[in-house]
Amino acid sequence: MSIRSKLIIFMLVLLAAVSAVMTLLFQQNEWSSISANSQRKNLQILMAMSEVCKEMSATPEKTYAYRYFKTFLKTPEIIQVSCSGPKGRVFLTDRYYSPQPPPFSYKFKTFPNPRTGTWQTRSENGVEILKASLNSKSLKKQLITATVEFSTQIIYQEMDSSLRQSSASFFIILSIAFALGCAGTLIITRVIFAPIESMAEGARIIGSGRLDHRIPVTSNDEMGRLASELNNMAVKLKEVADMKQDFVSSITHDLRSPVTGIELCSDIIRRLAETREYGKIPEQLVSINEHSQRLNTYIDSLLELSKIESGKMTLDMKVVNLEDLVDRSVRAFKAYAAQKGIKLEFIVGQEIPDMRGDPDRLYQVLSNIIGNAVKFTNSGSVSVFIEAVPGWQKVRICDTGIGIPEGETANIFGKFYRINHGKREYPTARQGTGLGLFIAKFIIEQHGGRIELDSTPGKGSAFTIFLPA
Ligand code: ADP
Repeated sequence: MSIRSKLIIFMLVLLAAVSAVMTLLFQQNEWSSISANSQRKNLQILMAMSEVCKEMSATPEKTYAYRYFKTFLKTPEIIQVSCSGPKGRVFLTDRYYSPQPPPFSYKFKTFPNPRTGTWQTRSENGVEILKASLNSKSLKKQLITATVEFSTQIIYQEMDSSLRQSSASFFIILSIAFALGCAGTLIITRVIFAPIESMAEGARIIGSGRLDHRIPVTSNDEMGRLASELNNMAVKLKEVADMKQDFVSSITHDLRSPVTGIELCSDIIRRLAETREYGKIPEQLVSINEHSQRLNTYIDSLLELSKIESGKMTLDMKVVNLEDLVDRSVRAFKAYAAQKGIKLEFIVGQEIPDMRGDPDRLYQVLSNIIGNAVKFTNSGSVSVFIEAVPGWQKVRICDTGIGIPEGETANIFGKFYRINHGKREYPTARQGTGLGLFIAKFIIEQHGGRIELDSTPGKGSAFTIFLPA
C-alpha cells in the first residue's frame, strides 16, 4: 500500500474518531441543557401553583381556582394539581390525565431535582410519576401545600424530541464538516504526493540508465530542493559514466594495436615454421596465436559497446540481399560444424528480394547467432531458414543444442551476460564476452527489426530475426 493511501486512511479514521467524540460530547451537553430547562420550567409551574393555593385558601369562592387549574392542566406533562391545608386536608384538586405505560425511551442521565420543594417519584400502574410539593404560609399564617404531579414519560418525550431537533442540525453541520475534511485530505495528500511521485518516476528513469533525464523543479521548498539534489546526482553520475566510457574506449584503443601486432607476428612465425617444415610447431606458438585472436575479439566487442553507449554507432545503409549474407555466414561456420560432427544447413523457402541494410553489421549479427548455435550444439544439427513474410524478411536459426533456461531468455540479451552451461560439455562457452547478443539486438533494432527467442532446455533453441522488407 502506498504512503498516500495510508495517509488518506489515517486521516479518514482520525476524522471519523473526532466526529464520534464530538457527537458524544454534543449529546451529553445538549441533554444537560435540555434537562436543566425542563427542571426550571417544572419549578416555575410548582411556584405558580403555590401562589394560586395561597390565594385560594383565603377565599371561599373556588371558580377562579378551577380556571387556573384548567390552565395548568393544559400543559401536557401535568397530570394532577392540588392544594391542601394544615394536616393534609385537600381543599382543591383537579386531574386531567390517566398515565399509560411509556414506550421504550432512551434516557442519557437522570438529573437532580430542584432544591426548592419536595420532589418524589412513584410508580402508578407501572408508570413513573414525579410528584412535586411546595409548602408556604397563607395570609392567615396557615400551612398551605401546593402539589403538582408530572408525567415523567411526557417530560422525557419532550426532552427527546428537542434533542432530536438539535441533533438533526448538528448532524447536518457535522456531515458538511466531514465532507470538507475528506476533500481537504485528498487535496493535501495530492499536493504533497504529486511532487514525490514525479520524483520517484524521475529517479526510476535515471536509474534505468537515462542519465540525461531531469526531474522538473517546480517549487522552492523541501521538495524542490530534493528534486534539484537528485538532478545534481544525475549530472555527477553522467560525468562518471562518461569518464568510464572514455577510459574503456581509450584503453581498448591503446590495447588494440599491440595485440594485433602480436597476433600478426605469431601468425607469420607459425606460417614460417610450417613452410620451413620444422619437425614440430611449438604448442606455445599456437597458443599465443589463439589467445591474441580472442583478445582481439574481446577488444572489438568492447569498442562496439562503447560506440553504442556513446551513441556513435551508425549504420551504413545500402541495398543488400539477406539471402547472400546468410549464405556467407553459414559457409563461414561449415568447417567448425563439421569439426564438431554436426550438420549445418541453410534452407531457402522462396526467392528473397533485396532490402536496405548495413551489410557488415547484418553479417556480424548473423555470424554471432549462427556461431552461438554451432558453439552450443554438441550433436544433431543447426538449420537456418530464410523467408519473406508480408512486410518482413525472416531468418530463423534453429539448433538441437543445450537450450536456454526459461528465466534466462530475457537476460541473455543483456550486457556481459553468459550462462554457465558447464565447462566440460561446452569448453568454448567461457571464451565469449557476453556482448554478442546485446550488440546483435541493438543492430537489429537500429534497422527497425526485432529478435525473438524460443528455447527448450536440453532440446535446443530457435532465434528468429525480423527485418523490415
Ligand atoms: P557470447 O559471446 O558469450 O556467446 P552472447 O551474447 O552471444 O555472448 O551470448 C550470451 C549467452 O547466451 C551465451 O554465453 C550462452 O550462454 C547463451 N546462448 C546464446 N546462444 C545460445 C544457443 N544457441 N544455445 C544456448 N545458449 C546460447
